[in-house]
Amino acid sequence: SGRWARAMAILREFEENCGTPIGKLGQVADAMTVEMHAGLASEGGSKLKMLISYVDNLPSGEENGLFYALDLGGTNFRVIRVLLGGREGGVVKQEFEEVSIPPHLMTGSSDALFDYIATALANFVATEGEGLHPSPGKQRELGFTFSFPVRQTSIASGNLIKWTKGFSIDETVGQDVVGELTKAMERIGLDMRVSALVNDTIGTLAGGRYYNPDVIAAVILGTGTNAAYVERAQAIPKWHGLLPKSGEMVINMEWGNFRSSHLPLTEYDQDLDVESLNPGEQIFEKIISGMYLGEIVRRVLLKMAEEAAFFGDTVPPKLKIPFILRTPHMSAMHHDDSSDLRVVGSKLKDILEIPHTSLKMRKAIVELCDIVATRGARLSAAGIVGIIKKLGRDVVKDGEKQKSVIAMDGGLYEHYSKFSTCVQSTLKELLGEEVSDNIVIELSNDGSGIGAALLAASHSQYL
Ligand code: ADP
Ligand code: MG
Repeated sequence: SGRWARAMAILREFEENCGTPIGKLGQVADAMTVEMHAGLASEGGSKLKMLISYVDNLPSGEENGLFYALDLGGTNFRVIRVLLGGREGGVVKQEFEEVSIPPHLMTGSSDALFDYIATALANFVATEGEGLHPSPGKQRELGFTFSFPVRQTSIASGNLIKWTKGFSIDETVGQDVVGELTKAMERIGLDMRVSALVNDTIGTLAGGRYYNPDVIAAVILGTGTNAAYVERAQAIPKWHGLLPKSGEMVINMEWGNFRSSHLPLTEYDQDLDVESLNPGEQIFEKIISGMYLGEIVRRVLLKMAEEAAFFGDTVPPKLKIPFILRTPHMSAMHHDDSSDLRVVGSKLKDILEIPHTSLKMRKAIVELCDIVATRGARLSAAGIVGIIKKLGRDVVKDGEKQKSVIAMDGGLYEHYSKFSTCVQSTLKELLGEEVSDNIVIELSNDGSGIGAALLAASHSQYL
């Protein structure tokens, strides 16, 4: 019928505009490399902030003692206690607790938020068991994973550039978040020192390196997306400090804010951006990360409903609600391997209140999920190749078999298997068999918390 043809025309046009042929991906990877150079050259030189982390030493395995970590970066935060046993002992013991943040504290006052966090930490400290106390006379030390853009001023201080992910407390912006946390700990009488301030990418990098010395970068593909990697200090023109002994510096790319004329952006992406909380920002994040993939699918479906009566004469009202279709729903539909696509049918019914759908329609919806996920995954791979190229690891030198390991974390990569499979196959496609044999993505399950504790250890005041 005419309707079906119109709906398919919308889908085909979208597919075409989402295209990521290998040539285009190569351009995206090259643009990433170019922007990395620009962001390292000068402050504000690029959309990529390329923030200096002050982490110039990653964990060596020698770390010893009791350390705490706090991981704040979403709606939950975690408090972690780790007992490290040095080269021989490794991670002797690890305990954690997850605490959710009441929504009103995400938009209230700075003191209220940090008091809440410090109190949860104090309650956790109170549960220290046998053999899990600091040595007599020693202060407890904490690695603080704070996954919002921060301009670091030292390993243990940094000013908040802006809140993201639903947090919005104006008075914190520009403040030193370690100062805010330390004041809150003092207010409630918790004696603890923040020894390292990092974000989740750097925590993941540190945690990954502890277990595998070949780890050179970390990528987060979760609600949002970001990457960090180890750069030669000599290759950072905007760094005017002393050259670190190691000769290295970890860079927090804030790659979610990458954009390039080579990115395949569609009208749906443009609308999503304009209507978002941060228009014009985080464009890369808005086409690859978990917060947005399901929403892009919803927008295309809405257009098919409105302009081609895809779901019948009326547009299903729920389909008009932004963010109602979450990426885990999309992933469940995409992975539906039943012959009648009954998972797709039940998701449409449960979430969008669309009671009846034909097999043909369900197939079209799976295809739509595939288009959106494939674009995101292939662009993620191109971003990784950008880093590999910046490090000159995109060629095999004299048959050298130096492994390059990417520590990966995030629910999108972890749970959306068609997505992660596509990231890996695209890496192969972009780098070729011989090089990609030496590039390994290692899933780091919440390595960022333990990574922060390890960095607290390597930056301890007692060393
Ligand atoms: P965060 O990024 O907030 O720290 P996670 O790393 O756990 O948290 O990632 C959570 C995100 O991962 C969710 O917002 C969602 O987008 C995505 N996600 C979680 N489960 C799935 C799933 N089954 N399929 C696809 N995406 C998922
Ligand atoms: Mg996370």
